[in-house]
Amino acid sequence: MNAAPHDPNRGMAGPPVDFDGLFRQSPTLSLLLDPSLIIRAASDAYCRATMIERDWAVGKHLFEVFPDNPDDPNATGVANLRASLQRVLQLRRADLMAVQKYDVRKPESEGGAWEERHWSPLNSPVLDADGEVRWIHHKVEDVTELVRMRASEEERAAFAREQQLAIDQLREANRQLARQMEQTSEWRRYTYFFALLVESSNDPIVSFLVDGEIKTWNKAAEQMFGYSSAEMVGSSVLKLLPPDRQHEHGELLAKLRAGEKMQFFETARRAKSGDDILVAITVSPIRDEKGEVVAASKILRDITEQKQAEKKLLSLQDELIHLSRWNTMGMLASTIAHELSQPLTAAMNYIRAARRTIEGLEAPQTAKVREFLDHAADETKLAGGIMRTLREFIEKRKTKRAPEDLNRIVNETMVLGVAGDADVKAMLRTELAPGLPPIAVDKIQIQQVLLNLIRNSVDAMKTETQRELTIATAGEDSGFVTVRVSDTGTGISPDIAAQLFQPFVTTKENGMGVGLTICQSIVEAHGGKIWSEPNGTKGTSFCVRLPVADAAENQDAA
Ligand code: ADP
Repeated sequence: MNAAPHDPNRGMAGPPVDFDGLFRQSPTLSLLLDPSLIIRAASDAYCRATMIERDWAVGKHLFEVFPDNPDDPNATGVANLRASLQRVLQLRRADLMAVQKYDVRKPESEGGAWEERHWSPLNSPVLDADGEVRWIHHKVEDVTELVRMRASEEERAAFAREQQLAIDQLREANRQLARQMEQTSEWRRYTYFFALLVESSNDPIVSFLVDGEIKTWNKAAEQMFGYSSAEMVGSSVLKLLPPDRQHEHGELLAKLRAGEKMQFFETARRAKSGDDILVAITVSPIRDEKGEVVAASKILRDITEQKQAEKKLLSLQDELIHLSRWNTMGMLASTIAHELSQPLTAAMNYIRAARRTIEGLEAPQTAKVREFLDHAADETKLAGGIMRTLREFIEKRKTKRAPEDLNRIVNETMVLGVAGDADVKAMLRTELAPGLPPIAVDKIQIQQVLLNLIRNSVDAMKTETQRELTIATAGEDSGFVTVRVSDTGTGISPDIAAQLFQPFVTTKENGMGVGLTICQSIVEAHGGKIWSEPNGTKGTSFCVRLPVADAAENQDAA
């Protein structure tokens, strides 16, 4: 198609207008393309902005002149521009493109480096008389600075945001740190006090791992065993076991691993001096946060003295039982002697009467009978003599009287007579009046009386469900003190109430019935009195009234 070139001045009056020059010098950044996208004209401003030589570019294809920056893998300039120009060709409408990044290249003479550029392009069709696209006016605005400014603004904002975030994080970290420090110092304080507590404990406290390795060893442990902490930490607990106790090591660790706590385990441990110390050990497992036993704490107590005291108590108990038996035997013998004296006297009288009756008879056998009766009289006399001597011997037996505290006697009786019996201990209660005056008594005998009364009370409550045994002491203005043993037992059987203190009166299958008789003789020998009365609505109270020391002396003197 060889259409005649269009004359833009046709039909215009006056000198012709240099449209080419006008286009070139236009302040807009414009490019004129033909429909095949060959550059046909470019404004000076365009050439300056895109750093091209007009003569070099005109006649070349748009994308030959403006390829994508090969160093920018994300470059989309060519594709977007091509799409926009296609739309212009197809729709014959102007197409305003979004701001594009489309880098340009410096001329070869200046090194040919790529420079970042941002454009706001508008592609407009120039239609011919048939409405076909004759030209495309590609007009751009260089918004690089604007984009840069915005980018730097955004950058600044982003930077500010980042900074704020960093400040916030720093603040939070600070807060956490402060919290941690607080906890740490709290923890430190706690561990410090805990360490002080362990260190200052009077009882040796040792901690060790499940294999027996000692981790801590306090002052009390140093004192008990003579080993310093430096000598023991790191060594095995085995070091403390006497040769005959070595087997305990394995057993103890096995129990520990099983999570068992051992309480007051009595055994012996060897000190550095080689002496064995009797100890009661309590071992408690120490668990980690997962609940596994990792170590143990061991508290030891020296029970040598306690064991000695127990031994002494046992021997005192033995002594009391021995003396009590001896007393009972004595009293029994005395009672029997007393009871036998009457029939012996009667027998003697009968013998004498028989002797007198046969006095005048001359029968051949009478001499023999007389002889036998004389023997019988001698033997009876002898028996009476023996009884008398026995009674005198028993009754004259010296008792050791000394000023004693009744409350103390009660307490000792309980320790000696009741300590081993958990049942009795459970039901026993004392109500001891403070500041009682001393009494002049044979302590053992008064203890025997109390033990007798306690045993009777326990017997009387055997079949009862409510079992309460109370020992109460009281002072009286009249120079006496009283101890009252009360129970919630069956009460005194009416059958024997009248002869309660008589010998051989008992309701028990294996009873001898001399306990209360002996109590009465002891109490009366001390210038006191013993009696029974109902304990409220249930059971019996036995009351023992004893003169206080001065009064007893006065009474003795009187
Ligand atoms: P025994 O205990 O050998 O029977 P005792 O002389 O000590 O001898 O007691 C005589 C009897 O008195 C007992 O068999 C019992 O029937 C009665 N008796 C003693 N103390 C009590 C008591 N606290 N409660 C009920 N009955 C008692």
